[in-house]
Amino acid sequence: MRFDIVTIFPGFFESVFAQGIVRRAQTSGLVEIRMHDLRDFTHDRHRTVDDRPFGGGEGMVLKPEPLAEALETLGVRPRAERESSKSASRQVSESASQPESSEERNAGPSTPIASAISAQDDRCVKGTRVILLSAQGRVFTQAVARELAALERVVLVCGRYEGVDERVNELYCDMELSIGDYVLSGGEPAAVVVVDATMRLIPGVLGNEASGEFESFGAADAEIDVDVEGVPRSQHGAGGLLDYPHYTRPAEFGGLRAPEVLMNGDHAQIRRWRREQQLKKTLKNRPELLERAALSVEDRRMLEAMEKTGSRE
Ligand code: SAH
Repeated sequence: MRFDIVTIFPGFFESVFAQGIVRRAQTSGLVEIRMHDLRDFTHDRHRTVDDRPFGGGEGMVLKPEPLAEALETLGVRPRAERESSKSASRQVSESASQPESSEERNAGPSTPIASAISAQDDRCVKGTRVILLSAQGRVFTQAVARELAALERVVLVCGRYEGVDERVNELYCDMELSIGDYVLSGGEPAAVVVVDATMRLIPGVLGNEASGEFESFGAADAEIDVDVEGVPRSQHGAGGLLDYPHYTRPAEFGGLRAPEVLMNGDHAQIRRWRREQQLKKTLKNRPELLERAALSVEDRRMLEAMEKTGSRE
């Protein structure tokens, strides 16, 4: 999968993408990340990327021309054009099963019209998403990360100052994404968040194929399995809940002992305890997630007990 990041600070990303899983994902060839300096698409002596806002007011706005040129250079055509080439390619591929016309035959085997258009279509529409990072965007969640991880390419446009000329959004971007309800000084930290959360869901990036499912916001199993004693299996997805707390050595730290249940090797008990902790933490910190979580009968029973005793700690 490839990420293209359009930014006025390409150096911002150097150290973040040179560490840990994201570095490994790149060296193993599963992920490619390219930074594109917006100033390379300016044509004046000062390499100007911003201008004063129409209508007055605070700050500066990123000009549309360098951004449009950067995106076009990356093979991103205006949305309207992409949509019309998509329907053209649909028509061509529909007629591809019809007997060849003499014109098509004259085009020769080296220029198969249908596949050329659909290859372009793949690159510009189906496999690629152009995203404007913006505090006004749809909120980036694990579900969005999962959607993006299925694509071939994600192009991220980082705003700065007061933001980006809205016509860039209208003309080129498929969606606006916000990483939360706060205002950053630029889209770069948001781009790091989107790349990180997305790339770790690409098959092969994490050591354990399924580990993305076993943590906070993980998908639910198709059905929640309950073992013979009615204990939810821990090896099922988090089902939209937060993760359970983790402990490692030493067994005693700062006057606190790690929970005894984790030391006794009773796996059924451990699973049950972990599930209970997931429910407890979700109830305490993010109760709204419970409304859409995949809960078993046993989960509901544990929740009811927690609510009754008011145990939200
Ligand atoms: N005037 C804008 C904020 C501009 S901040 C507003 O009030 O909505 C400058 C840039 O930082 C934005 O163009 C955007 O690219 C980025 N940015 C700020 N907050 C963000 C957030 N929560 N998520 C993603 N990008 C954000």
